[in-house]
Amino acid sequence: MDPVAAQSPSEVSDPAGERDLLRAQVRRYLDDLVTFEGRRLILPEGVERPGATPAAAAPDRAARLEALRQSICECTACPLGQTRHRFVFGAGNPEADIVFVGEAPGADEDRQGEPFIGAAGQLLTRIIEAIQLRREDVFICNVLKCRPPNNRDPLDSEVATCEPYLQQQLEIIQPRLICALGRFAGNCLLKRKGSLSSLRGQLHDYRGIPVIVTYHPAALLHDGKYKRATWEDMKWLRREYDGTEL
Ligand code: URA
Repeated sequence: MDPVAAQSPSEVSDPAGERDLLRAQVRRYLDDLVTFEGRRLILPEGVERPGATPAAAAPDRAARLEALRQSICECTACPLGQTRHRFVFGAGNPEADIVFVGEAPGADEDRQGEPFIGAAGQLLTRIIEAIQLRREDVFICNVLKCRPPNNRDPLDSEVATCEPYLQQQLEIIQPRLICALGRFAGNCLLKRKGSLSSLRGQLHDYRGIPVIVTYHPAALLHDGKYKRATWEDMKWLRREYDGTEL
């Protein structure tokens, strides 16, 4: 039951003003709780924090991914190839069970060639750790591998040119789950043109791989009210990962 919505009998007899004040206090308290700073999922007994898939199960994924990286890292197939500083292939475990997909590199990522290392990326790291995974357990990449100037929205032509790289990454890694970060990544993977709220809350399918769409961490930095919903999505992602009810 939503603790904010719950009414005790004494509340019912309270003057409306006091009730609203109390609700606002409870909401603030819950919002403070859901910060990802101190948030950590407590796993039930018997559920282990996952390690990598045994190397023997997928001996060549790292090599294939590296070969793909080398073959595309000097790409100039779209104009972003002229304006980028670094090509941002993606990073993490080539045998990851979960792949997080964002939109496109920002300024920090463009400078360093790594995905999600700026402020939004640091929040993403805390979110991943909150569900008892580490960045190095998962794979993190973007739809676009090069930064659009001034962080403008990716153009359809850029997506069309770059998307095959993402498809090849997912085909090599073969994750058990994909988490799309934000409306752009969700729509791109699912070939939709929906709002984030229309994409959230359903287990979608990308070429046989279940997809959960949640808020982009930059949206959480912009407006903390999305943290609670994101936390619910992350617990759900973890449940799908474990195949258990937490
Ligand atoms: N935002 C993204 O979508 N991707 C990054 O790598 C960084 C910020």
